Amino acid sequence: MMNAFLQKLSLPYGKSLDIPTLEDTYSRLDILLIRGTLPQDLVGIWCSQYRSVVIDSTLSDIQYRCVLTHELAHIALGHSGCSCNSIEEARARKLTADLLLPQSEYDSEKRRSSNLWELAGNLNVTLEVLEEKMNI
Ligand SMILES: [Zn+2]
Repeated sequence: MMNAFLQKLSLPYGKSLDIPTLEDTYSRLDILLIRGTLPQDLVGIWCSQYRSVVIDSTLSDIQYRCVLTHELAHIALGHSGCSCNSIEEARARKLTADLLLPQSEYDSEKRRSSNLWELAGNLNVTLEVLEEKMNI
């Protein structure tokens, strides 16, 4: 993972990148984190204009952790949010998988898990993030 912005924040990777660490990172960056209701199928949104991230309040802890990381990836990549194109979206998804699923953790859990759902659960990520990792 070669993002200078995130290196400067010295974020931990994988399982150590938990919800309190992520929430603390937003406050260190002086970005307002709001749990609320979002339209349609949106689960999270970054808006640089207001230095705010809004995340659906009905998400599970695993979903919340993944969305916190995904929106942080947009911020680290310098995306302005709200109107991301598909290339920006793909880059944010890739960086999210890099942050949450370092190779060593992924490999060792893969040996211990008998299916994708178990593997996602053991790695504390959604199936979407796991599938992103597997497509790399
Ligand atoms: Zn996104």
